[in-house]
Amino acid sequence: MKFIALAAAAWCAAFSAFAANDPIAIVIHGGAGALERGRYTAEEEAAHLKALEEARDAGYAVLEKGGTSLDAVVAAITRLEDDPKFNAGKGAVFTSEGTNELDASIMDGASLNAGAVAGVTRVKNPILLARAVMESSVHVMMAREGAETFAEEQGLEFVDPKYFYTERRWKSFKRAQEKAKKGASLPAEFKYGTVGAVALDRAGNLAAGTSTGGMTYKRWGRVGDSPIIGAGTYADNKSCGVSATGWGEYFIRLTIARDICAQVEYGGKSVEDAANDVIFNRLDKTEGDGGVIVLGADGDIAAPFNTAGMFRAWRKEGETPFVAIYGEE
Ligand code: ASP
Repeated sequence: MKFIALAAAAWCAAFSAFAANDPIAIVIHGGAGALERGRYTAEEEAAHLKALEEARDAGYAVLEKGGTSLDAVVAAITRLEDDPKFNAGKGAVFTSEGTNELDASIMDGASLNAGAVAGVTRVKNPILLARAVMESSVHVMMAREGAETFAEEQGLEFVDPKYFYTERRWKSFKRAQEKAKKGASLPAEFKYGTVGAVALDRAGNLAAGTSTGGMTYKRWGRVGDSPIIGAGTYADNKSCGVSATGWGEYFIRLTIARDICAQVEYGGKSVEDAANDVIFNRLDKTEGDGGVIVLGADGDIAAPFNTAGMFRAWRKEGETPFVAIYGEE
C-alpha cells in the first residue's frame, strides 16, 4: 500500500513538473521570394534544405539543453549568416554602389528589450552586434560607423568587406545594374533573401531575430524592415514572436511583426489567423510581398507567405521536424 502511495506521489510530481513546462520550439526562415519549383537544381535544393535543417537543429539543441530562446535564435542565425547561400552576413546582396550593407535586430519577449543595427559593413555577424546593442547599451538601434565603433568596444569579430562577396550575388548586382541603366524596374528575382529565427525556451520565454543584406541594388544608406522592431522583428511573451522577410518598405509601413502580435494579444486571434490576416489581407492589398514566421507563447507555429516560396524550417518538442522551400508543402 505504502509502495503504491509513494509511486503515485512520484508519478504526480513528475507529471506536474512536465505539465508546468512549455514545449520548446524553434522556427527559422531563409527568405521569401520568387522561389518557383525548377529554379534550383536537385543538388542546390538539397543543399538549401540541409542548411536550413542544420541551423534549425543548432537552435533546437540550445533549447534542449535548457538554454534560452535568445541563445537559440543567435545560434540559428549566426549559422545562416555564415552560409553564403543566404542573404545575410556572407552572401549578402550588393547595394547600387557594389557594397554590402548589413542590417539585423533581436528582441527578448520576456523583457521587451531589443537591439538593432543598420548599414554595417565590417562586422562578421550583425546579429551578435544587435544583441550587444540590446544587452550592453542603453539604446535600441545603432547605425553605420557608430555601430561599428560600438562593435569594436564590444570585442566583436571584424572582417574585410570583401569577406561578404559571393560570385552569385555579384552577378545579380551586375544584372540589376544593366537593368537600371536601361531604366527597367527590377524583377522579383532581385528581391529578398534574409534570415530569421523565433524560439520558445523551457522557461516559456520567446525571442525573435532577423538579419539581412537587404535588397539587391538598394541605394546605399537604404534601411529595410529587418532591423526595425515592430516591422521585421517582434517578440512578446504575452502574444508571439515574429521574424519577417520580403519587400521591406511595405513591411515598415504595415508594421507587420507588431501587428501580428497585437492581433493575438488584443484580438485574441490564433497566431495562424493573425499572420494570415496580415499577409493575405493587408500585405496583399499593396504591391509588397514576402512572408513571416510566427511562434506563439503556447508553441503554435505559422509561416504564411504570398511569394512563390519561402525557405523555412521548424522543430517543436514532440512533433516531427519540418523543412520546406516552396508553397503547399
Ligand atoms: N526585408 C528585407 C529588406 O527589405 C529583404 C528580405 O527580406 O529579403 O531589406
